[in-house]
Amino acid sequence: NNHGVAWWRGSLLGKGGFGSVYLAYLKKPKSRNAFYRPVMAVISAEVSSSSSLQKEKEVFNNLHDCPYILESYGEETTVSENGQMVYNLLLEYASGGTLADLIRRSGGCGLPELDVKRYTRSILKGIDYIHSHDYVHRDLKPENVLLVPSGSGDFVPKIGDFGLAKKVQKTKRRMFDSSIAGTILYMAPETLVDNIQESASEIWALGCIVFEMFTGKPPWGLNPNETIEELCKRIADGLELLEIPSGISKDGKDFLRGCLVKNHKFRFTIEMLLNHPFVSGIDDTEY
Ligand code: ADP
Ligand code: MG
Ligand code: MG
Repeated sequence: NNHGVAWWRGSLLGKGGFGSVYLAYLKKPKSRNAFYRPVMAVISAEVSSSSSLQKEKEVFNNLHDCPYILESYGEETTVSENGQMVYNLLLEYASGGTLADLIRRSGGCGLPELDVKRYTRSILKGIDYIHSHDYVHRDLKPENVLLVPSGSGDFVPKIGDFGLAKKVQKTKRRMFDSSIAGTILYMAPETLVDNIQESASEIWALGCIVFEMFTGKPPWGLNPNETIEELCKRIADGLELLEIPSGISKDGKDFLRGCLVKNHKFRFTIEMLLNHPFVSGIDDTEY
């Protein structure tokens, strides 16, 4: 009844904006043992409401060749028990969960600096790949960085959730956009103030993620009795009022300051960040 596809849907992993995320198991495993091992994650939505998910598949298709971007195995339409047509986006399964989970498990203390460096360099390379293919992700945050175990017992961070990603017009270097998207806590001043959402805005989000890996919390959060407008204003004021914790190394602080420069024109570029001493010594093949 499901067009001969070789997988079956397991338990719910998460409920998303555009569909629900499930584990998927092989239908005919080679060994009995393999039967119980999830082989994919699938995001499923009724076909009638799957246009966003289909767009997300297009983005995944165009970004299929980077070790720091979640892999997509394509799409499949199935029929549910009650006869509904269901659209499924098949994805590499990240059994390590999300970077947000990992940070939460640290008990609010943050991750060891060497891990922060490794994850930062990988995420940076993922962002570089996205931008060099003329996309902006627009929703970079720890919940959207998935962790896939590497052979050596570490996790490889992979950027996922391209539901808000957008193609950047080649002729326009900047993207003025009436439909800004994403989560306020990771949004750059130029996005909050001028509706500008461009590649440099993703460097800001990276800075927020790095800060959160270091400290367990994003740099800006809603204070009690504060309105969203007041929070946005605080973020837009930039680094001036933000204290970078003293436990972070000199290189780490400098890297963070470079990402969180208020004026996007003076923010560090990806190239500058890849060559920055905080991450330049990290060997990607160490995973
Ligand atoms: P949304 O657009 O609603 O945020 P996501 O694609 O980010 O949807 O997925 C929602 C959540 O489901 C993620 O934050 C993560 O917890 C889980 N998830 C999504 N994809 C995977 C995957 N490939 N492997 C493991 N968990 C996943
Ligand atoms: Mg998400
Ligand atoms: Mg999404």
